[in-house]
Amino acid sequence: MVEIAEEIGCPDCGAPLKIKPGEAIITCEYCGSSVNLAVGKKYFLKHSIIPASYDNQAIMGEIDSWMKKGFLKPSDLARRSKVLDAELRFLPFFIVNVMATSKYEGVLTRTGQNLTKKGEFSKTYYWKIMGRRGSHFPTRSYEVPAAGKADFNITLLSKDGKFLNSELDEREAGEITTQEIKEHHKFLLSSEVDHITSIDTQVDIKNTEFLHAPVWFIKYEYGGKTYELIMDGATGDEIKAEIPPMKKKGMFGKIFGT
Ligand SMILES: [Zn+2]
Repeated sequence: MVEIAEEIGCPDCGAPLKIKPGEAIITCEYCGSSVNLAVGKKYFLKHSIIPASYDNQAIMGEIDSWMKKGFLKPSDLARRSKVLDAELRFLPFFIVNVMATSKYEGVLTRTGQNLTKKGEFSKTYYWKIMGRRGSHFPTRSYEVPAAGKADFNITLLSKDGKFLNSELDEREAGEITTQEIKEHHKFLLSSEVDHITSIDTQVDIKNTEFLHAPVWFIKYEYGGKTYELIMDGATGDEIKAEIPPMKKKGMFGKIFGT
């Protein structure tokens, strides 16, 4: 099946762009320029990258020390587990700088009386949106390791890393941001009032930055089962981890009598 009617060349260096179905912003693998396919021209957003500090060998050491630390893991995890797969991916994110103002009316019932409350609050955010659809990456809890951030340069990509183009463009990232912040403000307001009568949130996008950040996706086997571990490729920190259950013996076993 032909997905693309015409081949698109990089606006800067002329190299053919490799486009996979569903992708919206394509970064040229030769010169690092980015193209918004919907607009068909050079991408104008600021594009940054966080280089990876952990190569294949270094991440293996980091996985080993992760398995050895923390007392909620089986004590033999490092010894008895096997890394089945480890892949470094440079994931696309939009960092959307917004100012959001909510005007609301609600009723406070928790005091035993019905008190009407009216008010307004404003907040600024650097809201993160992951540029891939159907991903279960924990974007909200992921802290972008901004310390190592640099202007995007193709030479800062690791050779063995997999580069992922964004499936969203900044317009869609802005729409998702607006939606998520509206929900977030409803959630914030729920600690102020017990019933929200009305809430009107204006989301004003100040600017949007496009960023690629390194993340290690690891699969390991322990006791015949496979577990997933996601680690920050810049800091080596755990982003998300599946941990095998502790064995029912030892200290906890004695305490709980199992
Ligand atoms: Zn190019």
